[in-house]
Amino acid sequence: MVIFNTQGIVLRTSRYSENDVILTIFTRNLGKVSAIAKGAKRNKSALLPSAQLFAYSNFTLKKQRGMYRVSQSEIIKSFYDISYDIDAFSYASYISRLVENSLLENQTNRKLFNLIVKTMYLLSQKDVDKEFITAAFELKFSDCMGFRPITDRCSVCGDESDQRAIFNIEEGGMLCKKCAENFSGNIRLDATTRKLMNYILSNEIETVSRAKVNKVLTKELSKLMKQYLTAYVSNLNMKSLNILDDLHKF
Ligand SMILES: [Zn+2]
Repeated sequence: MVIFNTQGIVLRTSRYSENDVILTIFTRNLGKVSAIAKGAKRNKSALLPSAQLFAYSNFTLKKQRGMYRVSQSEIIKSFYDISYDIDAFSYASYISRLVENSLLENQTNRKLFNLIVKTMYLLSQKDVDKEFITAAFELKFSDCMGFRPITDRCSVCGDESDQRAIFNIEEGGMLCKKCAENFSGNIRLDATTRKLMNYILSNEIETVSRAKVNKVLTKELSKLMKQYLTAYVSNLNMKSLNILDDLHKF
């Protein structure tokens, strides 16, 4: 038996038996793991607070016969407020499913781990634009996963002088006017959206969250990022993450 101590955030909970829960945890040191939290559903269980969706905790995990078991946990932040706000809950659910779908078991990604913790913190706050935070998360997520789009120069020839905002998903970034002529599927964005993308990629998400961004730009970025992620994350089915669409039906 091997024992691990690591911080982690719960991406998914599924009931295993009356009192036991299987947690999908994105951990700092072990990447994404599934772990059984035995007895976590009992009222007095010490594991109960950490066995909730989005809970951020210090976990002690025991590995035996290829299976992790949560033996101890200590909550750092429950992010419980997220569950009381339907908007925040939907965005947080989308983000956790996106991360869960994109990582392999035991794939570590510390940069992404730090990003998701900070983003959950922001979504638990009252006076933040949650739609914008989510779009900024999507862009920074692509950077953490190794397919950061090129937004500060032409992704084909490297030209920095042409600051038009022509984006090409397959080429992975902006195109100058000349290069754009050679590609199809170009997406014309507002020039401010390009500046916004540069800003998001070169600042921490807490700093980014303080920017006042108009809804039209947020929607443009959000739509672009969904197309971009669909192209770059293998087997990503945005439809299956359609929590956001459901949200907008309310
Ligand atoms: Zn070019």
